[in-house]
Amino acid sequence: MDFSFTKEQEQFRMEVRQFLEDEMRSGTFEKKSNYYLEKSSPEFSRKLAARGWLGMTWPKEYGGGNRSYMDRAIFMEEILNYQPPLMYHFFGERQIGPALIHYGSDEQKREFLTKIINAEISFCLGISEPGAGSDVAAISTVAKEEGDYFIINGQKIWTTNAHNADYIWLVVVTNPGGPKYRNMSEIIVDLKLPGITVRPLYNMIGVHCFNEVFFEDVKVHKKHLVGEKNKGFHQVLSQVDYERGGFERLMQNYPLYEGAKDIIRKNVSLKSDPVVRDKMAALDIELELGRLLVYHVAWVTDQGRIPNREAAISKHFCTRFEQKLGDFVTELLGQFGQVMPGYPETPLNGDVADSYLWSPSYTIQGGTSEILKTVIATRGLDLIFTKRKA
Ligand SMILES: Cc1cc2nc3c(=O)[nH]c(=O)nc-3n(C[C@H](O)[C@H](O)[C@H](O)COP(=O)(O)OP(=O)(O)OC[C@H]3O[C@@H](n4cnc5c(N)ncnc54)[C@H](O)[C@@H]3O)c2cc1C
Repeated sequence: MDFSFTKEQEQFRMEVRQFLEDEMRSGTFEKKSNYYLEKSSPEFSRKLAARGWLGMTWPKEYGGGNRSYMDRAIFMEEILNYQPPLMYHFFGERQIGPALIHYGSDEQKREFLTKIINAEISFCLGISEPGAGSDVAAISTVAKEEGDYFIINGQKIWTTNAHNADYIWLVVVTNPGGPKYRNMSEIIVDLKLPGITVRPLYNMIGVHCFNEVFFEDVKVHKKHLVGEKNKGFHQVLSQVDYERGGFERLMQNYPLYEGAKDIIRKNVSLKSDPVVRDKMAALDIELELGRLLVYHVAWVTDQGRIPNREAAISKHFCTRFEQKLGDFVTELLGQFGQVMPGYPETPLNGDVADSYLWSPSYTIQGGTSEILKTVIATRGLDLIFTKRKA
């Protein structure tokens, strides 16, 4: 077993770090927890694209770098240390491009892949609905066939980035009344089409990240159907494994960790307090374990396997770490931690209060911890759920 990175990978890490340091110094972004997700900047995404850092793992024939998932994980670890704005390209690069490479038609690949990799278009993901979150099979947004078109009616919710995106990757029912799990499909929908309304939703901090999206008789050409009609449920399942195991599940509030360490080091009474030392050391252990889990997911993916159980374990453990970190720093700084950004007394750039309010969502977005445990139990441990006879 070799736990070290190659010389090239260490050099790559330094190159990314230097770029981010320079960008931060020149004022492109500020280092603040959750900013990678809250902020969207086509200009910054294009700077990453120009360096070949988008689509790094995609095959060369689609403009990608044909590099390993380990390289991408190194890149993301550095990125999340700095938290630059990523939302413009994030969904397109992380999962929509790879899903298109896998399931898309040649025409779709030609139309979308280069634009995603060059950060010329932005995507959002339309899966969840008011009556369907964990249970994706319960969605009710319908795409009815009419000649060469689908006519879409329904509503999505919690749609991150819909207010900035050009397209929505939409999961819809295409066979109403058909068998569960074999009645839905994935369609790419241009958000500028008539009949679409995007309404903002504000989270507890008052930040606008996600939205409600309404569809009223939206006419979409059938060429935008991705993969096979009525096989969408299985396509979605294979896609979520790739969105669960990355560094964004461990380091969404990483600046808080560095900030807390700094405060404790500079304060003699905190530094010598055995409870503080004990808790900080416990967090350090969990951060290191989380890193190993994320790199393990990358390694499994590089072996050509779908990181199903591994990604579920990683997300479950890592997001809990993020919550514990928020709890600890809130406790550590007491009432000062609650001062919101913009006041002279505000510690850590307002990260403490903001992060604490963000943290319930860490174990919900991308699959709740309960659902992840079901994945681990059923697909990892073979503990299949069977209904008891009455
Ligand atoms: C910050 C954020 C961003 C998001 N962005 C997007 C996005 O861009 N696109 C998108 O489509 N969605 C998005 N979501 C939605 C997210 O995918 C759902 O919130 C999530 O899947 C849970 O669904 P739900 O909220 O309907 O909760 P529910 O599914 O109603 O679950 C409620 C509770 O019941 C538990 N539960 C449900 N079913 C079971 C079960 N079978 N066994 C045990 N426990 C169960 C859950 O764990 C949870 O604790 C986002 C959510 C958040 C918080």
